[in-house]
Amino acid sequence: MRCTFPWTGMLIDPAGYLTLCCAIKGSGQGKYFGGVHIDDVDGLTEFFNGPQYTQARKDFEWGYEYVPECIECILQNKNGQRPAAKGSHIFDNSNRQKGKVQYLEYTTSNVCNQKCVMCSSKFSTQWADIESIFGRKSHPTQSLSDKSIDKIVKILPDLQQIHVKGGEPFADMKNLRVLEALVEVNPKCKVTMTTNASMIPKKFIEFFKKIENANLVASIDGLGKRYEWIRGSSWEKTEDNMERFAQETGKLFSVFPTVSVYNIQHWKVIDDWVKRRGGIVTKATTWTNPVTSPKWASPKYCMTQEEIDACELPFKIKSEYDPMYVKQHVEYTQKMNEIRGFMIDSAVNTKGI
Ligand code: SF4
Repeated sequence: MRCTFPWTGMLIDPAGYLTLCCAIKGSGQGKYFGGVHIDDVDGLTEFFNGPQYTQARKDFEWGYEYVPECIECILQNKNGQRPAAKGSHIFDNSNRQKGKVQYLEYTTSNVCNQKCVMCSSKFSTQWADIESIFGRKSHPTQSLSDKSIDKIVKILPDLQQIHVKGGEPFADMKNLRVLEALVEVNPKCKVTMTTNASMIPKKFIEFFKKIENANLVASIDGLGKRYEWIRGSSWEKTEDNMERFAQETGKLFSVFPTVSVYNIQHWKVIDDWVKRRGGIVTKATTWTNPVTSPKWASPKYCMTQEEIDACELPFKIKSEYDPMYVKQHVEYTQKMNEIRGFMIDSAVNTKGI
């Protein structure tokens, strides 16, 4: 089974560490590439042509099923799901010899304006103050230095696709510096941005007016109060933002819900909304993203296989039910109810706990 990431792709995680992709085990800290920070390399192309990537290409030559760090893709493939290895970073083989990064997934910081129930301070600065309530350590605010941003800007002419992630990419104006440079040197590059869409500054709208090939991916996990409980910001404002963005840029969002115990029984509501708003703000929904962490919000760990199957999801989740996580679910849902100021139901059966 082939994955082209070692020949085409690079990922910069929220703390600035370089790795192959978002799905690989020990991302940025394990074998690929053991804590190499963007500050520590001369340039991204130089690193891409250096010994660690060369070794990665050797490891992947016979397929990712021989790479233990690719366990997530191996399991997804086995379960009939679409693994990250079959994602949009795949370019034709003739490009493999170029020695240039063609797909860059990056995040300038973990700055975010939301406090989603399934997130943490690693990806959202909003979580820093409340991690201890959930028995976890806080990650500090991380932000790429100007020198590191220069390294990203330098490879922009080579890219076929750039994927901007966060934190929340619209909450960090450093992204605008990268994207405005991209328009100048490589306007045909495909721009994918994963966003919560709860804030979209005017300057970003101006950028997306100028880009031909854009793919906006909105993280919508519910409507109305359910959305507000899961994500912690106004549903009405998010919907208005998406509508305004689509009207002004002519570009529609696709929707990528994260499936947790709080929305698994309501997934058709999101699907219906996407159909209703199709051609206005949205074009399609991709259902492949179950919560695996924290386990107390995860269908996989808090629901039996029978309970998951009863939800008739359009993709499979294999249960590894453990009552210990159900107990945590009860405790932490109550804490999140207090933070949100109202209560939510969930699909977890708490009888007998
Ligand atoms: S096979 Fe999957 S986990 Fe491995 S590098 Fe490719 S996308 Fe990443």
